[in-house]
Amino acid sequence: MKAIAVRPGVPHSVHLREIEKPSLSRYPQGDGVLVKVLKVGVDATDREINDALYGNAPPGDDYLVLGHESFGIVEAVGDKVTKVKPGDYVTATVRRPGGSIYDQIGTYDMTSEETYYERGINLLHGYLTEYFVDSQDYIVRVPKGLKHLHVLMEPMSCAAKAVQQAYEAQRRMRVWRPRRAFVLGSGQIGLLSTLILKLRGLEVYTLARAAGPHLKSDIVQGLEANYVATSQVSLMELVKKVGKADLIVDATGSSKMSFEAMQALGHNGVLVWTSITGGKAELQIPSDKINIEWVLGNKLLVGSVNANSEHFEAGIKDLAMGEVMYPGVISKILTSPVQGLDQYQEMMRLLVEDQQALKVYVNVASE
Ligand code: BGC
Ligand code: ZN
Repeated sequence: MKAIAVRPGVPHSVHLREIEKPSLSRYPQGDGVLVKVLKVGVDATDREINDALYGNAPPGDDYLVLGHESFGIVEAVGDKVTKVKPGDYVTATVRRPGGSIYDQIGTYDMTSEETYYERGINLLHGYLTEYFVDSQDYIVRVPKGLKHLHVLMEPMSCAAKAVQQAYEAQRRMRVWRPRRAFVLGSGQIGLLSTLILKLRGLEVYTLARAAGPHLKSDIVQGLEANYVATSQVSLMELVKKVGKADLIVDATGSSKMSFEAMQALGHNGVLVWTSITGGKAELQIPSDKINIEWVLGNKLLVGSVNANSEHFEAGIKDLAMGEVMYPGVISKILTSPVQGLDQYQEMMRLLVEDQQALKVYVNVASE
């Protein structure tokens, strides 16, 4: 079967190749699920892997099949599978357990080991192919009524985890009633975080560079959040206008912004960093100022990566609620489909060059 792969470490090596179709026999315990891939999304991580900034091939292979945002339909299941059945729509988690205690209890997104295993990213092949198999432990059912949001399940899981981590960490306050949130960045993680925070009843300001109206501002406003163009109003100007935030999610992909955010957080607040920045940027910061403000304000910084199946389930519930509260808004993220795995070059081109492409995804097959 066909697959889109790269040679990790070799820049711009994205290519189409033939790989063997997987079968349920790889799961002799009977817990395997064979999934026919329908759609796969790509994001900045895939771009950075193709730029050779990131990612490793599975041991013994010199290529890595890309793709970690999966959506498919169950084709067959092993005899011990109870979670899903043929015909169900599904997605799959990305990370697989290593050896730490966190890995062993299903919280592999919190592994304490330096080496991590992620399908389509690091040491494991991904989903940009025609079929995949996995244990039911890593398969998450997608409700029929959300099938039009297909490849957003994985990015949503990361946003859901990020916000959940913030709330979890803020239990340190005993009483924490956040009112104002800043979401930095209006890519998929920024927009999905905006949805989650709106559903939690916060006043949300979502920041992006370009002044609207355009699709991003339209989506932000559709979610009843405030769109702020940093080309017109900088983060610190926003603070002057509305005050500091109780919660900030940084999803800009810019480490400069993630540090700048430290000056926009209020007392007792929490800042969550979600961006994967594969580059080597260095920065000068007003470290004394930040240091004193953070100490005197009991502020907290949390890094958040990946997501386990509980975050997928939480994210899916919020997507369902989002469709009820803000009908038709979230699907606007899905801007840029590519027809078939053969179009891998067009997929990369859209990902790298098209500034209007909010979400690039491949229509791998129809049902
Ligand atoms: C993926 C996450 C992954 C992270 C780090 C992101 O693009 O969505 O699942 O953990 O990259 O590799
Ligand atoms: Zn991703």
